[in-house]
This record gives sequence, C-alpha cells and structure tokens, in this order.
Amino acid sequence: MTARILDGKATARTIREELRAEVARLTGLGARPGLGVVLVGDNPASAVYVRSKTRACEELGMHGETRLLPATATTGDVAAVVAEYNARPDVHGILVQLPLPPQVDATRVLDLVDPAKDVDGFHPENVGRLVQKRPRFVACTPAGIMELLSRHEIPVAGRRAVVVGRSDIVGKPMALLLMHADATVTVCHSRTRDLPAVCREADLLVAAMGRAGFVRAEHVKPGAVVIDVGMNRVEDVAQARDLLLPERFAEFERSGYALVGDVHAPSVREVAGALTPVPGGVGPLTIALLLKNTVRAAGASVATAES
Ligand code: NDP
Repeated sequence: MTARILDGKATARTIREELRAEVARLTGLGARPGLGVVLVGDNPASAVYVRSKTRACEELGMHGETRLLPATATTGDVAAVVAEYNARPDVHGILVQLPLPPQVDATRVLDLVDPAKDVDGFHPENVGRLVQKRPRFVACTPAGIMELLSRHEIPVAGRRAVVVGRSDIVGKPMALLLMHADATVTVCHSRTRDLPAVCREADLLVAAMGRAGFVRAEHVKPGAVVIDVGMNRVEDVAQARDLLLPERFAEFERSGYALVGDVHAPSVREVAGALTPVPGGVGPLTIALLLKNTVRAAGASVATAES
C-alpha cells in the first residue's frame, strides 16, 4: 500500500481563498485585518517564518508588519512592542515569534498579549477556554491539522489517536482538540515506555517531537492516518539518503539541505493509509490558520465597536 498524500498546501490555499471576501468586507468597514509581529534576534529560520506570514497577509489584502528587535533586547523592550500593538486599533492580531532569546522572559511577554488579539492562542485565557471546550483562539498548528482532517473527510470520533509530543504549542492543544472531537487520545513524550507499541494502537498518529525521521514503519498500524508536524533541517548526506524520499534527493544535492519531518516518509508511506508530506503538509496550514484567526479578531473588533 502507498499512503494517500494529504496535501496541506492545497487545503491552505482553499482556506486563504475563503478568507478573501471577509477581508474585503472588513476593509470596507474600516477594519482591514492587521497582524503585528515581534521578531527578536537573527535566527534565520524565524526570519523565514515571519516573512512568509507577513507575505501571506499582504497577498490577501491584509496589513502585516514586523518589528525587529536586536538579539540583546530585554523583556521590557519586547513588552513595549506588545503594549503598542495592544493599543493600536489597526492591529487585530499579535504574534510574538518564538523562540525568544534566553534573557527575555517569554511567559511574561506572552501573558501581556491582549487575549482578544492573541491569534496564536498561547495566552492562558485562551488556553483555558480551549480546555473548557469554549475556544476563542486555538494554537494555529493543531487547529490547522483539525481543518486538514475535516476537509479530507477523515473521521475522528471514536478513533484511537496518539499524539507524540506534549508541548504547549502543538502536543497539548492537539490532544485537547482530538479529545473534543471524540477521539480516544493518548499523549506520548520522551519518558513514554515502548513508544512503537503505543503508536501502533493509533488510527490517527500525530508526530510532533522535533526528531528527524524518528517515527518509522514499526510505529504505524497498517492503514493509519499519520500527521507529520516536524520541521527539521538535514544537511548531512548520509542522513539525507536515509530520510528523504528518493525523488527528493536531487533537491538536497542542489541546495545542500532539505526539510524533513519527524516521520520517516520512505518507510511509513508504505504502511500508512494517509500521510502529510514535509514540506507542504502541516506548515502551510499553520499560516492559513494564523490568517483566519487574525480575520476573526478583526471581525470581532467590528462587532464589539457596533454593540
Ligand atoms: P518541543 O521541543 O517543544 O516538544 C517536543 C516534544 O516531543 C516534547 O514533549 C518531548 O518530550 C517529545 N519528544 C522528544 N523526543 C522524544 C522521543 N524520543 N520520544 C518521545 N517523545 C519525544 O517541540 P514543538 O512541539 O514546539 O515542535 C515539535 C516539532 O514540530 C518540531 O520539529 C517543530 O519544528 C515542529 N513544528 C512545526 C510547525 C509547523 O507549522 N509545521 C509549528 C510548530 C512546530 P518531553 O516533554 O518529555 O521533553
């Protein structure tokens, strides 16, 4: 069997197109949706992510701006930008790009984001609302995965789901969303015993651990749906030969590196029923959901102003 490939890029494009009319309507009402980003330091991966997020905003006719602070910025410097974005009526969504440098207290900064502008869904108020199943903004990556599943008509209710990873931004909210969609959910982490056996129980397996190609065929029940959240850069030739689908090797040779997920695609695609590719799977959905949350925040600001 070769797994069905779940094309996140196409799904993300559909979501973006659905947003276009709402962006135009809100712009007509004087509330052109705006995203304010804070980027600290010169992490090249973060810079690439931020650029693709603001470019995606512009392509939809939204406003996207980035405040770049030096790597030496203090908690107070970052907090000041957040406070400015909180106060500005033309900024509806705020994104503090992680990771922040070690001298910046990330928890304190994220707690300062106005929960009504917290389009990343990281503020404790929004996390609490998710836990209570009355969500407002939900972290974009797991929210995007739920959209991918529903738009591919992949059933969740009653199924066994295993989430590998328990981070605040992916694993935990993912597990909550799957539980709320009536899956029976197991969350795994670095202390889980016999991970392959636990993973093999899954009808739906989500790998979000940050370990290149870790999840192999032995982790996957035949026919399972496998969602690969990982984004890992591979530069070593031997590693690339092992981890990349053969058809991607030329790309590696051309650029000297390649992005791979947490799933070992060459072996898992022979066992799984469906698989998200990396790149082109979960990544584009994360951006689409960020846009969707920002448009919703702008819509809510209009509704609040009218009431
Ligand atoms: P974190 O490093 O915050 O969390 C990783 C989790 O994986 C931890 O809970 C850790 O366990 C667990 N883990 C690590 N090694 C193992 C192991 N050997 N066995 C079992 N569990 C393990 O990562 P994130 O959640 O932030 O991100 C995960 C991956 O997803 C990364 O590759 C990241 O780049 C990618 N990502 C992709 C996004 C996208 O848009 N596509 C968005 C966000 C992230 P423990 O808690 O015990 O340490």
